[in-house]
Amino acid sequence: MPEVMEEPAITKVMFSSLNLDPQILRAVEEEGYTEPTPIQAQAIPHVLAGRDLMAMAQTGTGKTAAFTLPLLQRLLPHASSSASPARHPIRALILTPTRELAIQVEESVVTYSKHVPLRSTVVFGGIDIKTQKPALMKGVEILVATPGRLLDHVESRNLLLNQVQVLILDEADRMLDMGFMPDLKRILALLPKQRQTLLFSATFSDDIKRLAQDFLINPVTVEAERRNTAAENVKQSVYLVDQDKKFSVLADLIRSRGLNQVLVFTRTKLTAARLARMLEKDGIAADAIHGDKSQQERIKALDAFKESKITALVATDVAARGLDIDQLPLVVNYELPPSAEDYVHRIGRTGRAGASGEAISLVDDKEERLLKDIEKLLKREFPRERATVTSTPRAHTTAAPEPRASASHRPSAPAQSRKPAPLDDWFHKPYEPSPTATAAEEPSCFRQNKPKKEIAALLGGLSAKR
Ligand code: AMP
Repeated sequence: MPEVMEEPAITKVMFSSLNLDPQILRAVEEEGYTEPTPIQAQAIPHVLAGRDLMAMAQTGTGKTAAFTLPLLQRLLPHASSSASPARHPIRALILTPTRELAIQVEESVVTYSKHVPLRSTVVFGGIDIKTQKPALMKGVEILVATPGRLLDHVESRNLLLNQVQVLILDEADRMLDMGFMPDLKRILALLPKQRQTLLFSATFSDDIKRLAQDFLINPVTVEAERRNTAAENVKQSVYLVDQDKKFSVLADLIRSRGLNQVLVFTRTKLTAARLARMLEKDGIAADAIHGDKSQQERIKALDAFKESKITALVATDVAARGLDIDQLPLVVNYELPPSAEDYVHRIGRTGRAGASGEAISLVDDKEERLLKDIEKLLKREFPRERATVTSTPRAHTTAAPEPRASASHRPSAPAQSRKPAPLDDWFHKPYEPSPTATAAEEPSCFRQNKPKKEIAALLGGLSAKR
């Protein structure tokens, strides 16, 4: 049984008391962090002490720094300014379930290591493996990877894992959900037995516990957030909307609030693709990320969203996993997720690192059971308000659009003030995946196939009334 640590008096822990090198602290300070988040305050001392760790923390809790900062500290004695690749063996391996998360984690590693001479790189599927080889050949101490692509590199003899001292499994629950267990086992067989292993997971399912039993030695368990509790700083509301009215309600919401950035979740990639397209047609700059999008397409969409070039990013649960977007004010559940735990993940995209956020769920009568599951999980009931629409969305009319009241809110998004094109046949055609799509690094089991009255009170009224 893993040892469960009591939560320390978190408020009293400061970065300066964590025994981190001044150069690491400098990078932390430059990021503007004033004090460790709860998961950082709890995990860092154990990682520095060399313990194996099971940490329950979802994205948004500061978990990346919780493992990266002490990792850098532990690798510092091996830092070398030599140009020789032999002096830069892979000493730490960070595995993530998705390409997006891999990229984000490596960005954080680069940020936190900017004043220490440790090298890192990231490898993930969906792009030409040859482009990743030069960085590996130069030698890196820290490698961030998705499992499938890592094994591709192993097979191509582009890297060796026999000097790995620290293994980090990030979002381990999602890795298992995505069917990465066989890949994980193969990778673990290539690592030295003598190593430190850190497992981060948003949930501690029985499968995760089994994984920990098999691969961790006497781990300390830390738990920054209680199981399946949603962030308290996220305001959550539920609106009852018939499925065929949801689009109008969403478009109304974006306009009436003059929103710059809204992350919209759908259950399937088909709905994600269509919804993004409909929003675009309606004059709201939008894009979708889902399993059929290539890596380049996903990165492009995410970057455009982060830079506020698009207003709405429509995402499926898997594609959005691990997304870190600073100051994201609003998440909309266009459809509730099939699993209540995914609801917690979704709304964790807003209200990050202590900022306040908001999550709005548009719920059709048929989704009532899913809503009940969520309420059961969160141990709370949401008041339901019925939503209706005040205006006809532009995608549903060929009439010339009226001037947008909210246009002045976002001069940086020209697409939003574009005149919508007339409806085309696209909406009536069956969905076709993008020809450039590739899911090279994803296991095959993961490839998604599954996946009136004025209601002013509802949308425009929401912000005005509070
Ligand atoms: P993560 O859970 O690692 O995805 O981190 C979520 C966000 O919290 C990122 O944008 C980090 O830059 C930010 N963050 C991490 N640690 C801190 C901290 N100690 N204080 C403030 N923000 C932080």
